[in-house]
Formats: sequence, C-alpha cells, structure tokens
Amino acid sequence: MSSSHLALFSLHGKIAAVSGGTRGIGKAMAIALAEAGADIALLQRDVANTEVRDEIRALGRKCEVLHLDIADHESCTKAIPAVLETMGDIDILINNAGIQKRHKSVDFPDEDFNTVLQCNLKSVWTLSQAAGRHMVQKRSGKIINTASLLSFQGGINVPAYAAAKGAVATVIKALSNEWASQGVNVNGIAPGYIDTDMNSALMQDQTRYRQLLERIPQGRFGTPEDFKGAVVYLASNASNYVNGEILVVDGGWMGR
Ligand code: NDP
Repeated sequence: MSSSHLALFSLHGKIAAVSGGTRGIGKAMAIALAEAGADIALLQRDVANTEVRDEIRALGRKCEVLHLDIADHESCTKAIPAVLETMGDIDILINNAGIQKRHKSVDFPDEDFNTVLQCNLKSVWTLSQAAGRHMVQKRSGKIINTASLLSFQGGINVPAYAAAKGAVATVIKALSNEWASQGVNVNGIAPGYIDTDMNSALMQDQTRYRQLLERIPQGRFGTPEDFKGAVVYLASNASNYVNGEILVVDGGWMGR
C-alpha cells in the first residue's frame, strides 16, 4: 500500500469516544482506532477497570476512562460533556455498548423490554444527539453505531433487542439525512454471529451452534478483530462520501 493510501485511513490528531470498550467488539474497535492514530475516551460503567486504557496508552495514544451507564438516562446525558471537558473535542463517536435479554415473547417481562430499549436504543440517541450538536457546529464528525443482523431480521426470543436494533438502523438514516450536508457522517456496523460473551449461551447450545455454523457462508463465527478494518474505514476520510450506511460484517450470512 502506498503512503497516500495509508493517509486516507489515518486517524492521527482525532479524538474518539467508544462505549463498551472493556471487552468484545468494542475493545477491538477502540484498539483499532488507537492503532490508526486516534486518542480515545473509553465510556464505561466500571471506571476502575483500566485494562484497555493501559493497552491503548502502551500504543503511545492518550486514553481516558469516563463514566457511562447506558441503562441510566441521566448518566447518558453526562457522557459527551465529560468527553469534551476531558479530551477537549470529539471527532468520532462509537456507540457500541449493548445488552441482550432472551425470553419467549409470551413471557417477556415489561421491565426487561424497557431496559433493552434504554440500553440499546435510547442511549444511542442521547449520545448521538449530544455529539452531533457539537459536530454540526464544527461541521465535521463521524458517528458509528453498532447495529445487528436484527436491524434487518426478527430473531427468536429477542423481540426487545430486535425492536431496538431495527430502530438504531433507522435513526442512523434519520440523523444522516439531516447531518450529511453539515459534514457529519452517521453510519452503522452490523455484526453477524460473533464469538463474544454476549453469545456464550448460544455457543454452548451444540445443536443451535452447529445450525448457525452451517448457515454462515464463511463457516465460522466472527471474532472481535474482524471489526478493526470496518471501524477504521467508517471513522476515517476513506468513507467521507458514505452516509446512512449499515456495513454488515457477518461472514456472508445476510446474502444467503
Ligand atoms: P459483550 O457482551 O462482549 O460486551 C458488551 C459491552 O457493553 C461491554 O463493554 C459492557 O461493559 C458494555 N455494557 C453492557 N451494559 C452496559 C451498561 N449498562 N453501561 C455501559 N456499558 C455497558 O458484547 P459484544 O461485544 O458482543 O457486543 C457489542 C455490540 O455489538 C452490542 O451493541 C451488541 O448488541 C452488538 N452485536 C453483537 C453481536 C454478537 O454476535 N456478539 C451481534 C450483533 C450485534 P461491561 O464490561 O462493564 O459489562
């Protein structure tokens, strides 16, 4: 690759805020952004967990841990102001933290439904709005929300998750329609079936696991590292004319 190609993907001098960077997909995304040159604000509920922060600092980047509990609306309203105060600016927002609750729809508790909507949808809106206000004003920014295959499909026993992730996909388009002309790119990444803690129960169900593997054209679950290229692409100048897109990273599942 020539140096001009590499420059297209460089994030040197950029400041990125990443939620859910403690483990799984978000951790790989935060490290990828740092490897591409960005300084990082890790938005997480346990501020005493400094493992990923230390890994990123070892790369020579600035990295701070700031509090965010996506289940708590009040906490969501404070996250972006804290990033601006601590880091001085925000160029890239990655709304990646999320939860899953599985019950049959006939038994789905109201409380769990509301919690999933707050964590997987409302928090995405609250942080996007706050970061977007700042980015629109400076006419530059990248917002990337982690969507899901269940932004397009209904799933089984996960109606709240499907409702939230479906809405994340349309909120991405709604914000993109307003902000594309203001220099702010709003896009999403939809992971397929990925080997993270969120799927440990699914992977322990031998029958379901085999059925899923048989349907994935690549014949394997994805890994968090499979998201490094996608997130750097959408956070960098390489994707400047990409708006309202949901980039599916799923080993071919959606094409089947
Ligand atoms: P993990 O379960 O491995 O990690 C979840 C992350 O979200 C952790 O960093 C966790 O932090 C954080 N988080 C959970 N609850 C809260 C909270 N209340 N406040 C702040 N942070 C919280 O998940 P994945 O890496 O698998 O998933 C990441 C994203 O990708 C999610 O949005 C998920 O819906 C999506 N996704 C995942 C797929 C998969 O197959 N794995 C498929 C499609 C979408 P902590 O360490 O503190 O718990």
